Amino acid sequence: MLAYRHAFHAGNHGDVLKHWILIQVLRYMAEKAKGYMLIDTHAGAGGYSLQGRYANQKAEFENGIAKLWGYPDTLPQSIQDYVELVRHFNGGDGAQLTQYPGSPALARHLMRDVDTLHAYELHPTDERILRSFLSDQPHSHIHMSDGFGGLVRHLPPPTRRGVILMDPSYELKSDYSRVVSTVREALTKFAQAIIIVWYPIVQLVEAVQLPNRLIRAADSAPKGWLHARIQTQEADAQGFGMMGSGVMVINPPHTLEKTLRNELPFLTSILSQISKPEWVLDSRLP
Ligand code: SAM
Repeated sequence: MLAYRHAFHAGNHGDVLKHWILIQVLRYMAEKAKGYMLIDTHAGAGGYSLQGRYANQKAEFENGIAKLWGYPDTLPQSIQDYVELVRHFNGGDGAQLTQYPGSPALARHLMRDVDTLHAYELHPTDERILRSFLSDQPHSHIHMSDGFGGLVRHLPPPTRRGVILMDPSYELKSDYSRVVSTVREALTKFAQAIIIVWYPIVQLVEAVQLPNRLIRAADSAPKGWLHARIQTQEADAQGFGMMGSGVMVINPPHTLEKTLRNELPFLTSILSQISKPEWVLDSRLP
């Protein structure tokens, strides 16, 4: 049985980077009337209380969404859009930050009746919460099974428009290689898939190797790839802890590179807990 619960980490700097990018991709998908399919291979519970015992054990959201929530000046446009969506789940303008929406909640909010969501979650408790969270949402299918294995069943989507979010917990070291092999398999079945993969920056050889392995796996993608990563924290004295995270977007929307280039430095500096935070943006675009 897996031990990982995203409730301990909800709203941390990794969620901020990942959800900021996910929202931009889904906004782009909604520009065309034709429906699309989103497959969230590791969906989590859908929404999280930031007042509960889990979120407050390490209060990771304080170095994540909370940094943006209380920001006194105007935020860059797409970061503002992300914060406004999180605000929506907290009751709108003037509300306190008490809830954090997970990827299926943010996605479903942006998806239309013509779009379809497939969300995979293995943890029985989180799956139950997710199921109730999405129960009244149209065209939303929850699967309590392995997201890596389930994904390819949906490819190619009937409308030939599809986004895949692959956001494992990396609790198992095998997740690192499964991400790579699943990206390869997905691109074989549907070369145009927009694939978003999140990964942590931690001191582990598998994690260090992952970006280059993903870049090689994305070689066949007709619209190339875009890779963003930020490092905003130190590891602890034992070398443990997440120092930052990265997101690989395969077949990215053509608008994404410009926004990331303009806004990633700001996001890195606002989330930073260290004197020299780092950001990287590299790409192979047509
Ligand atoms: N995507 C979510 C979000 O952004 O709000 C967070 C997901 S969390 C990082 C990873 C989730 O994957 C956990 O809830 C875990 O229980 C689940 N999980 C782990 N292995 C899985 C697998 N093979 N298939 C589906 N879900 C899995």
